[in-house]
Amino acid sequence: MPLPRRQFLTQASAGLAGTLLAGLLGSVPGCAPARSTVQGRLRGAGHALGHLLRTPGKIPPPTHVESTDVVIIGGGVSGLAARRELHRLAPGQRTILLELETDTGGNAAAGRNDRTAYPWGAHYLPIPDERDTELLAFLRAADVLTGYDAATGWPIYNEAHLCHDPHERLLLHGHWQAGLVPEVGVPAADRLELERFLAEVEQLRRATGPDGRDLFRLPLALSSTDPATRQLDAETMAAWLTRRGYRSEYLRWYLDYSYRDDFGVPAAQISAWAGLHYFAARKGRAHNAPSDAVLTWPAGNHFLAAALRQQGGPGEVRTESLVFGLREASDGLVEVLVYDARTRQSTAIRARQVILATPWHVAKHLLPSPPPLPDLAPLHAPWLVANLTVDDYPGGPGQPLCWDNVRYGSPALGYINAEHQALRGFEPDGPHSLTFYWALPTNPADPAAARRHALASSYADWLTLVLTELDLMHPDLAAQVTAADLWVWGHGMVAPTPGYVWGPARQRAAQPWLGGRVHLAHTDFSGMSVFEEAFHQGRRAAHAALAAVPVA
Ligand SMILES: Cc1cc2nc3c(=O)[nH]c(=O)nc-3n(C[C@H](O)[C@H](O)[C@H](O)COP(=O)(O)OP(=O)(O)OC[C@H]3O[C@@H](n4cnc5c(N)ncnc54)[C@H](O)[C@@H]3O)c2cc1C
Repeated sequence: MPLPRRQFLTQASAGLAGTLLAGLLGSVPGCAPARSTVQGRLRGAGHALGHLLRTPGKIPPPTHVESTDVVIIGGGVSGLAARRELHRLAPGQRTILLELETDTGGNAAAGRNDRTAYPWGAHYLPIPDERDTELLAFLRAADVLTGYDAATGWPIYNEAHLCHDPHERLLLHGHWQAGLVPEVGVPAADRLELERFLAEVEQLRRATGPDGRDLFRLPLALSSTDPATRQLDAETMAAWLTRRGYRSEYLRWYLDYSYRDDFGVPAAQISAWAGLHYFAARKGRAHNAPSDAVLTWPAGNHFLAAALRQQGGPGEVRTESLVFGLREASDGLVEVLVYDARTRQSTAIRARQVILATPWHVAKHLLPSPPPLPDLAPLHAPWLVANLTVDDYPGGPGQPLCWDNVRYGSPALGYINAEHQALRGFEPDGPHSLTFYWALPTNPADPAAARRHALASSYADWLTLVLTELDLMHPDLAAQVTAADLWVWGHGMVAPTPGYVWGPARQRAAQPWLGGRVHLAHTDFSGMSVFEEAFHQGRRAAHAALAAVPVA
């Protein structure tokens, strides 16, 4: 969509983007994007098809009946991991995976431009805990992990998939410093607090509970059951910080940034258990990389989603297939009602077991009424992801362009250099592809409001917002933007709000439904939306399905 430059600001509406923009521009007068035309459009997950669930009268009733052993609903990482596990443990089982989008991957979606593939959502995996042997086996089969060091036994990762140097930089006091922990111009008292916090979480990282388990582990279900530690789930991370005497604005910013990056919301909206888990559960080691290294790909985690699909065997995968209901048949089997957007016909698939790998706001519509678990209400922040093509090098004073580039104090989360993992020489001149991330502010008292505003905001609103943020990071670079494709995630990712991770509703959601034949598997039911949790959600559900129906 070509957009005349002057329209950028005049079209900023009263929607969420407009409100954010007003705040941003209020603090920095006079900055404005400056390109005569920008090519691009606003995209998003299959809202139109998904919203048919709200108007079931528009969906035709099933005209065909089929049968299979296991139906998997949802082709995100959780559903794909379930499919892989079923194939691994019981290759003889017949499976059908139903996905409403045109491709599998869910939040790990990807796109591409003339230069590179780029992520639309999930984009990296920190090197995993080597005790997570099944995750490592998956990575080995995907050639992400190439072997083990004979002396230490530590994994060796594929150098092409380890994030290349330089890794990350922070624009602080007008200077780009290496690393995201604030350092440049930070007063000594704040530095001491940052050090104290990092030392405290390092201790927690090594700590075990009375049950002998690590206090914090990924997947989180393996964490210690120590009541004193789980009690941390009841208060907010912000309250915990205050209680422990952490006041530094630099530390508070760094933590808010980190939590918005992983959970979509700041320290005031997550539990202290989750806030500490973020730092204390990461224990990966590698023979050829430091323990804080990450694995990433031009297409982000879509690479991993594609590998999961490939390792899932020959079972059928149907895209553009909206599941709109589940019902118990008279013989005890489950009927999965699915609408095919291509043929515009519906089918009832009779299955012995069902793995429901959709977010809860979808799953609760599919399960028969009365609506189950009224107290299960996961909070999701909406997200904006913007893929820009710029005609100049995003440099600046200090540390040169990195994979991850963040502005201190920004309401956004910065950008990834989408071409960082490209195996070609450095090209300072010519176009660059940048992927911007923005977890949009959410009021827990009315989470739907932020989503409504986000979905109502126009391409011009968002573009103004993104270009203004770019201008604050790199003055004049907004003038060099030639293309900008934007994607709004209405539900983004689940936030581990106080009481959610160890509360009763989430535990009950893990129980099977419909006479033990339907198993929920989604990061919503973990409380943390990261690849490892999705992988294990899928595995857990696959094991439950196979336990309920013994392999023939
Ligand atoms: C912007 C963004 C950035 C992220 N970055 C990272 C990152 O860098 N690293 C990381 O580890 N995690 C990241 N995440 C978290 C990411 O969500 C998880 O890692 C993981 O991909 C979630 O997988 P899932 O299968 O649980 O959920 P989803 O990805 O939500 O999958 C659910 C699937 O169900 C399908 N579906 C829904 N309703 C229906 C229906 N009625 N019928 C059929 N199909 C249906 C959906 O289309 C979707 O494919 C990010 C998330 C977002 C939004």
